[in-house]
Amino acid sequence: MARRKKIYEGKAKILYEGPEPGTIVQYFKDDATAFNAQKKDVIEGKGVLNNRLSEFFMTGLNNIGVPTHFLKRLNMREQLVRACEIVPLEIIVRNFAAGSLATRLGIEEGTPLPRPIVEYCYKDDKLGDPLVTEEHIAAFGWASQQDMDDILSLSLRVNDFLSGLMYGVGIKLVDFKIEIGRVYDGDFQRLIIADEISPDSMRLWDIETGQKLDKDVFRRDLGSLTDAYTEVAQRLGVMPKQATHLGKPKLIN
Ligand code: C5P
Repeated sequence: MARRKKIYEGKAKILYEGPEPGTIVQYFKDDATAFNAQKKDVIEGKGVLNNRLSEFFMTGLNNIGVPTHFLKRLNMREQLVRACEIVPLEIIVRNFAAGSLATRLGIEEGTPLPRPIVEYCYKDDKLGDPLVTEEHIAAFGWASQQDMDDILSLSLRVNDFLSGLMYGVGIKLVDFKIEIGRVYDGDFQRLIIADEISPDSMRLWDIETGQKLDKDVFRRDLGSLTDAYTEVAQRLGVMPKQATHLGKPKLIN
């Protein structure tokens, strides 16, 4: 069997050339990194959970008319996605103060924000993905004004969709990060949601108890990351709930 071609290996995923032109196979690894890879570990099952959860969120977004790169899940760890040119920005949407915003502005974590705040970081691991303004984005040509208008409206739609979905299962969407890709349909360029949407790139707190159900569990050594992600997947109906005496749910399908 011919070996497929690896296009890129990142911290949590590997991209392979897809079976058709314009497609890519996205493989979810179990590697967890934080603080720009200064903290690293392998968390068994994380890739399987994120593959399933990202499929769930992206399918929902596609179904409500927010375009994403997701085409179909191939197996436990892989999904077929549309190839796109990644805009070199990480788009962060925040509903409550936490993480770097809480530190930067001295706001207590958990404080509700007066309105969703959208931030842009320049995607560059060597620089630690620095926060940038629209001035930098325009001056360096990372995205046009039209792109920025579209990115803002896409990001807020994703925020509304994910916030509602999470609220329905007793989870507060504190903040999240997305990446945007460009695709070309003939002469037209469109922007779509790319990369992944998973608890690796969100902050999720239980509404009742405040328990963290996201990558902060790993960043801050708060317990088992797979237990936290499994809880999210089970509440959303992405994975079956099992009686606790039967042990952990099996990561199948
Ligand atoms: O660290 P910070 O508070 O800026 O993160 C905001 C949100 O963006 C968090 O949900 C975090 O998980 C996500 N994020 C990410 N990848 C980065 C930076 C932040 O997924 N490189």
